[in-house]
Amino acid sequence: MPSPSLTLLLEVQERDLVLDRLAYRLRELPERAALKQAEHHLAGLLARGAALDSERVELAGRQQSLEEQVASIGSRIALIEARLRSASAGSFRDQQAMAAEIESLARQRREIEDRELDIMEQLEPIEKALAALAEEESAAAAMLEETREALELAERLLAEERAAAEGERAPLAAKLPSDLALSYERLREKLGGVGAARLVDGVCSGCHLRLPASERERLLHAEEGVVSYCEQCGRILVP
Ligand SMILES: [Zn+2]
Repeated sequence: MPSPSLTLLLEVQERDLVLDRLAYRLRELPERAALKQAEHHLAGLLARGAALDSERVELAGRQQSLEEQVASIGSRIALIEARLRSASAGSFRDQQAMAAEIESLARQRREIEDRELDIMEQLEPIEKALAALAEEESAAAAMLEETREALELAERLLAEERAAAEGERAPLAAKLPSDLALSYERLREKLGGVGAARLVDGVCSGCHLRLPASERERLLHAEEGVVSYCEQCGRILVP
């Protein structure tokens, strides 16, 4: 019969493994990966939107400057036309010169208007793409929010499970002799979370190696309070 404190130690070990599994599940929650993906997706859409928008702003700026040129040419034409109509038009040659200038200005204006049209044609698909992106962005933002809530829920549930497991472990661990608890904790840290192992049919359940018969005998007949360690893996062995 193993001593009561060793039996207790195995019960603590069991709870520790439950807690380790919970910590692992917390780290590896699929909801966390989904959240990361949703964040990445939204960030990608926002970056694309920002790039398209700066293109749009640049084109819109060019369009506005062309519009201003058109307006300015328009007022120059209006001014010359007004002079032509008035009595101050001067000689026929002057009138001809003014008419020629109007003609030349009107040609310039048509050229600028053509360029403006080009820009409007470039702007159209960009504006459409921006509108579509805005819709995608709001869907992605909603998805992100949903994923965040799902992660929070999953974390909360795991925290409840952890609190329950800790609540079971604490009173058991409190009853362990302190030197045994210390030795167990050190081994657990060093040996992948398992500091104490049961001896099952002569096999250490920590490293799965069979103990020599003499060693087995020694363990089975160890005095109460004597702690034995597996010769292979170093874990506390509980017969
Ligand atoms: Zn072992």
